[in-house]
Amino acid sequence: MITEKTIGIVGGGQLGRMLAAAAQKLGFKTIVLDPTPHSPAGQVADEQLLGSFKDPDAIHELAKKCDVVTFEIESADAGALLALEKEGKPVYPSSKTLSIIKDKYSQKIFLRERGIPVADFLDVTNKEDALTTAREFGYPYLLKAKFDAYDGRGNALIREEVNIDPAFEKLSKSPLYAERFVPFIKELAVIVARSTTGEIKTYPVVETVHKNNICHIVSAPAVVSEDIQQRARDVAYKAIDALEGIGVFAVELFLLESGEVVLNEIAPRVHNSGHYSIEGSKTSQFENHIRAITGMPLGDTGMAHPVAVMVNILGEREGAAEPQGHEVYENSDDVFVHFYGKVETRPERKMGHITVLGHDHASTQAKAEDVRKQISI
Ligand code: AMP
Repeated sequence: MITEKTIGIVGGGQLGRMLAAAAQKLGFKTIVLDPTPHSPAGQVADEQLLGSFKDPDAIHELAKKCDVVTFEIESADAGALLALEKEGKPVYPSSKTLSIIKDKYSQKIFLRERGIPVADFLDVTNKEDALTTAREFGYPYLLKAKFDAYDGRGNALIREEVNIDPAFEKLSKSPLYAERFVPFIKELAVIVARSTTGEIKTYPVVETVHKNNICHIVSAPAVVSEDIQQRARDVAYKAIDALEGIGVFAVELFLLESGEVVLNEIAPRVHNSGHYSIEGSKTSQFENHIRAITGMPLGDTGMAHPVAVMVNILGEREGAAEPQGHEVYENSDDVFVHFYGKVETRPERKMGHITVLGHDHASTQAKAEDVRKQISI
């Protein structure tokens, strides 16, 4: 068990910010690595090193000052993390786990080989492959970037042949693969924490609602039968157990009309679908990540309130951020407004989130959406 030590966080965004706050609460020091001066996490951490999370030298510098290294972003350089492990530095999740997950195609192969339900997928290297995929899967199907795809930016829906060329253009920065379209009725997510001691805990199943491929609302717990909750938690548990990953993972799932649960993708880190847990759960995903990577016993993942609804605050314009409308909720015991300290706003940028606690889904969600309308940034 590691206590009173320094935790290095690769990446200084909002996830790092909330991780640093949780680490401090448990008595740890944090140092973040991020290229942006005064990054969201840098504002909260004990120290920030300026440098790219893809730069092996910068990662090495960070590691020298820390007892354990973790990351908040999957584009962190896995090779650099492997080099740290070889020097005996604890890195959680491991570079091996990160390497499997950060390539979405290799992630799907890994999961399928272990009997975890995923959508059919095929490798695609050129337009000919894309046409072959259309014959195999039919339209629509998805072309997806294997790497560096977050907030849906790495996806293109192929409804007909004319969509193929623009999709190749849009996704040109990464090699691609294709996925069969899944006609889901709901999107679900399960946060799983797995400690260095092997202890595993799953959070309740939540429902996520996406707009333009970006997470918009998270409703906890999901309104689905016990049976489906159990199935979703089982799929998530099995996937993280197979990965032998350490830390917190988010498992995104599709629920089909038949009640079947299909794994969409895994994030090897704390996740937007778990932000509600700061106030909504007995132990937040951020605290449990710190507990997991330092070998502390995991905290209770149960709900602290009957219902929690989280709504993202996405930027709506280009320019300097000007948070407004949150002051009235400063002392509220059921509305919590989080801003991430980002200096610049732009359309669809994640600038903050709101969590509302309540007793039933309909009124809690209505209240969360109403609060969102009062906030501007
Ligand atoms: P991703 O970034 O791959 O998780 O995808 C972002 C969003 O695109 C998901 O949350 C779904 O709403 C949608 N999506 C991704 N893959 C599929 C699929 N195979 N079938 C249908 N919708 C998908």
